[in-house]
Amino acid sequence: MPSSMARLLLLLPTTTYRTQAFVDAASKLGVDLVCASERPSTLEERAPDNLITVDFADPDGAVETVARFARRRPIDAVVAVDDLTTVVAAAIATRLGLRQNPVAAASAARNKHEMRRRLEAAGVAAPRFRQVALSEDPARVARLVEYPCVLKPLALSASRGVIRADDPDGFVAAFRRIAALLARDDVGLHGEVREALLVEAFIPGREFALEGLLMAGGLQTLALFDKPDPLDGPFFEETIYVTPSRLPAETQTRIAEATLRACAALGLTEGPVHAELRVNDAGPWVIEVAARSIGGLCSRTLRFGTGMTLEELILRHALGWKIDSFDREQRAAGVMMIPIPRAGRLVAVRGKDAAEAVPGVEEIAITAHLGQELVPLPEGWQYLGFIFARSDAPEEVEQALRRAHARLAFDIA
Ligand code: ADP
Repeated sequence: MPSSMARLLLLLPTTTYRTQAFVDAASKLGVDLVCASERPSTLEERAPDNLITVDFADPDGAVETVARFARRRPIDAVVAVDDLTTVVAAAIATRLGLRQNPVAAASAARNKHEMRRRLEAAGVAAPRFRQVALSEDPARVARLVEYPCVLKPLALSASRGVIRADDPDGFVAAFRRIAALLARDDVGLHGEVREALLVEAFIPGREFALEGLLMAGGLQTLALFDKPDPLDGPFFEETIYVTPSRLPAETQTRIAEATLRACAALGLTEGPVHAELRVNDAGPWVIEVAARSIGGLCSRTLRFGTGMTLEELILRHALGWKIDSFDREQRAAGVMMIPIPRAGRLVAVRGKDAAEAVPGVEEIAITAHLGQELVPLPEGWQYLGFIFARSDAPEEVEQALRRAHARLAFDIA
């Protein structure tokens, strides 16, 4: 391998949908790829130059391991593929002097209470909030809060554990449900984020997701997605995303402005951001900004310039390479994250061919496997799969996704 070849470190949590897309992008760019993940890999012995085992829950230890590796084989860029590795990526980049967000900013984006505090201090429109320790008596707190409200864990994602409450009884039930979720070992949270939850005012309105790239503190919007299904609770299941947005241009501009102000409030400056905002008569409200790209397999909806993927764009930016165009292709595109309707074991998936035959549907990826124990929201975080569609207009994309979903059937025992 020529010594001049750029070397890229990807931080891969074991539970991510994002590995393939990033690995494909790295091979397309022709970089020397090094992957760090948590599971001690038997492959590591055979490929010690390209695989590193680290503990993402121990950022200091991970930084040491990577720094030792980098003395032998210098690293030019580090990229977190998912929420779970953004803070470690920032810490590694700080140590190695690479382009990334400051550690404090990555941490703030990972803690919903800290995020809310920073947004409030910067005057960004966001829900009123209060942190509540799990040791408190929920019946007492239930008498102090306004309704409707939303209760949520401090550091999970994919709407896991996010529950709306309309009255004190609902509050107590949601509180207990989140406490039980956080107590589970497989949730993987440690320390203070496991001992409290956040209560927020429920913000009514329609929801939008902005996919962007931060460069030296400036925000390049890559795509604005409409979420045409109402998200009113009690659980907040992600389903359809369609871009381009059908919002008036002026509202789109206001969404981008609010997102940029939120990024600045958090201190985020470099790399991908995925922001969720609600829009109502008072304008856009920031629900969340994550320092990562869009989750699941959803990035397959996006293509830029002459066919560049979102992941290529992210890697190019991290490497400091030139990006010819940030323009998304002209056609409308969308994805439906297929929700898990109920708990049970997946026995059969029917109707895939018929669903794929719906005009506009490009691909259906069923990611749940037969025999898998399915866990719906609010405890679960996965999807049955993803439906992708492309067409001339966003309305057609939305319709194609709905038609295809209606033709799919999942037998759950
Ligand atoms: P996660 O990081 O798990 O996705 P979020 O805080 O983004 O958690 O909440 C998930 C979803 O729940 C949001 O996309 C939104 O639909 C809904 N939601 C969360 N907080 C509020 C709120 N304060 N008002 C209205 N809806 C909310």
